[in-house]
Amino acid sequence: MDASQRGFMTRALHAEGHEKPYHAHTMPIFQTSTFYFDDAEHGADLFAKRRPGHIYTRIGNPTVEAYERVVANLEGAEEAVAFSSGMAAIFGALMSRLRAGEHLVSGDTLYGPSVNLLGQTMARFGIEASFVDTSDPEAIRAAVRPNTRALFLETPANPTCRITDLQAASKLAHEHDLLVVVDGTFATPYFQRALDLGADVSLHSTTKFINGHGDAVGGIVSARAEVAGPIRKFRTDAGACPAPMDAFLNLRGVRTLGLRMERHNENALAVAHFLQDHPQVSRVYFHGLEADPGHAVARRQMSGFGATFSFDMAGGYDAARRLLEGIEVMTLAVSLGTLDTLIQHPASMTHASVPEDIMRQQGLTPEMVRIHVGLEEADDIIADLQTALDGV
Ligand code: PLP
Repeated sequence: MDASQRGFMTRALHAEGHEKPYHAHTMPIFQTSTFYFDDAEHGADLFAKRRPGHIYTRIGNPTVEAYERVVANLEGAEEAVAFSSGMAAIFGALMSRLRAGEHLVSGDTLYGPSVNLLGQTMARFGIEASFVDTSDPEAIRAAVRPNTRALFLETPANPTCRITDLQAASKLAHEHDLLVVVDGTFATPYFQRALDLGADVSLHSTTKFINGHGDAVGGIVSARAEVAGPIRKFRTDAGACPAPMDAFLNLRGVRTLGLRMERHNENALAVAHFLQDHPQVSRVYFHGLEADPGHAVARRQMSGFGATFSFDMAGGYDAARRLLEGIEVMTLAVSLGTLDTLIQHPASMTHASVPEDIMRQQGLTPEMVRIHVGLEEADDIIADLQTALDGV
């Protein structure tokens, strides 16, 4: 059987390859900063790429590479490049393409620090960004300029779960020779394969579902070799490599990604339906619900919906705050993708660094609460929400 035809879980367990040092069954943590050379010629050959091998962990490390092989396989990519964080992965993917004086088009609903990276930090280096509603392909077309070189999309977007049609957006972007970079952190490679839908780069904050256990920060970028090469060079130059221990934890996490995502998805749908029918909740933002504007596109381009979404409290900001103070099972914390349920207030937490006018433009309200639905019994999560809502 052609190995690429095997199922997701089989590939997640076997794509790293069977051969390991000392016949180890599990890929060991190569906790070493450097690697010795047999002689001077060996060292020179490795630097000149005349022989395969390892030189220095910032450039490459066997544990990191095993993890990259698995994610590349799951994404259907020629290569994956692991980074020290999701933000470093976004920066690396974009900086591998853009130079001072160039421009990129981005979705206008993004994780808060991504808004700042594109709108402030990269702007200081002469790279300008236009933020538009990418769920409307015409808005992307209208924003393209002669010096536009990339399109950055987050779908589903954090925290409003806005969905961008990746096929339509990629087709349009390629007419203008743009590099299409997709942050699919909320979806994971289990539910969305951005490269198959036309994107050039699929990336994830692996801190979230890929690690899955909430014990390592990381990011990973997958692409065809010609696109991944400059991204890897940027990582080496910038020193944004992951630690071997973190790569080990992420490799452990990705092995159970499929299993976890099925349960996360099921629980999230149950919780979203409960919230949708609750009188104290004025709106649920989740593409898994039929009434959501992104539902039809999400059904087409994703094989499941994920587990992170937001809702507005009918009683405004005070009600949102009281809800967060009334929880017992869930944890009040930012981040997502952990085994357990996390709940937080985007306007004062994950998106607090975003200027107020941009927050409004993103559709982010003061009464919005974001939930990452974990693997507990759904009934227990719902009961916890019910008790907290009763106390509002
Ligand atoms: N992209 C999205 C959609 C996120 O939600 C996050 C973090 O929450 C990031 C990127 C940044 O990831 P990291 O915290 O690993 O740098």
